[in-house]
Amino acid sequence: MTAQRSMRGDVAVLVPAAGSGVRMGPGAPKALRHLRGEPLLVHALRRVCAAASVAHVVVASPAESVDSCTALLAEFGPIVTIVAGGDSRQASVAAALAAAPDHLEIVLVHDAARALAPASLVEAVAEAVRSGHDAVVPALPVVDTIKQVSPDGRVVATIDRSQLRAIQTPQGFRRSVLTNAHVLAADDLTDDAGLVERMGADVWCIPGDPAAMKITQPFDLAVASLLLGSGQSD
Ligand code: C5P
Repeated sequence: MTAQRSMRGDVAVLVPAAGSGVRMGPGAPKALRHLRGEPLLVHALRRVCAAASVAHVVVASPAESVDSCTALLAEFGPIVTIVAGGDSRQASVAAALAAAPDHLEIVLVHDAARALAPASLVEAVAEAVRSGHDAVVPALPVVDTIKQVSPDGRVVATIDRSQLRAIQTPQGFRRSVLTNAHVLAADDLTDDAGLVERMGADVWCIPGDPAAMKITQPFDLAVASLLLGSGQSD
């Protein structure tokens, strides 16, 4: 697939890619693990940069990999900036946000681990923010039965799954909302919408995409490889 590069658009995308990926087993940082011969980060950026609304992308890479990431992402040209990530996902997002061009009012945060999230999902999230929502997340229904379990393994409760959603990235925000959420954040959360919720602001769901699955373990990498090979992921 050829990346379609746009210097237009009103969207900045922040890509936290500084995680070590311990659940993937020993080896390179997760974003730099290969999927069919290319790093997850490259797969993710191809799809992000193919979205015409995207004007700029800031990648937070592991601090020790900034130079190698810069070389790796040279194919995307000046649309992509690389900064050193932090000790937590939240710190990595904050570092990327500080480097995003000021005039871009719509900011998406997209985990490199969701390497096959399609450009159409990027556009759908951006459009939902553009049309008036302060914070938007892609969501899928939960298909498994979910139980709350005590630390020693006893089931405490069965949760009504009809009210639950599995949340993906990219998550989209009006820039001022994301900036305030990070300023006010007291402790780490696993996503940025969670910070916005804590501020008391509304977060809205739009339909997610199964291809935006999070690649966390070797099994996920195998599934993603099959998806890519099947042509079900553009
Ligand atoms: O650890 P987890 O899978 O929740 O990480 C989600 C995303 O956040 C990954 O893309 C990972 O690279 C990124 N991350 C980061 N900086 C950290 C930890 C995680 O950018 N310190």
